[in-house]
Amino acid sequence: MMTVTLTCPECGSGIHVYPKVESTLAECDVCQHQVPLHFNPEHEQAILKDCPCCERKDFYKQKDFNRKLGVALFVIAAILSLFTYGISFIVLYLFDLLLFRKLSMIAVCYKCQSIFRNVSNIDELRPYDHEMNDRIVYSDHDFKGLPIENH
Ligand SMILES: [Zn+2]
Ligand SMILES: [Zn+2]
Repeated sequence: MMTVTLTCPECGSGIHVYPKVESTLAECDVCQHQVPLHFNPEHEQAILKDCPCCERKDFYKQKDFNRKLGVALFVIAAILSLFTYGISFIVLYLFDLLLFRKLSMIAVCYKCQSIFRNVSNIDELRPYDHEMNDRIVYSDHDFKGLPIENH
């Protein structure tokens, strides 16, 4: 099943929800702010075409990479390299190759930063585009799910 992580507009906490047409509100565990949702039957089938939070159609895909874990591993490798003459960096590189290359892809909404996991049509989504991001975030442009070349 697709899972959705919204960002609370009030306090910035993550709100986890499962797509259900009946769910029209998500409540933030931290500040109890209620976020309206617009789930459709496609969402229940893990098809992402419209954002259930802001109703836009512009998403990008990226690896589900845990940045904090990556930094922690790098620090450990750096400390260990003092004793191992840099071998720990080779180990880290191999670890990265084996573990992180296999990470699943997630979809992110440009407009509201909602995160979607287990999206069945993830292959249809495009990687992050800096220009699209700037135009959506700063000029509130709506690409309606089309690539930037069509605009
Ligand atoms: Zn909140
Ligand atoms: Zn959105």
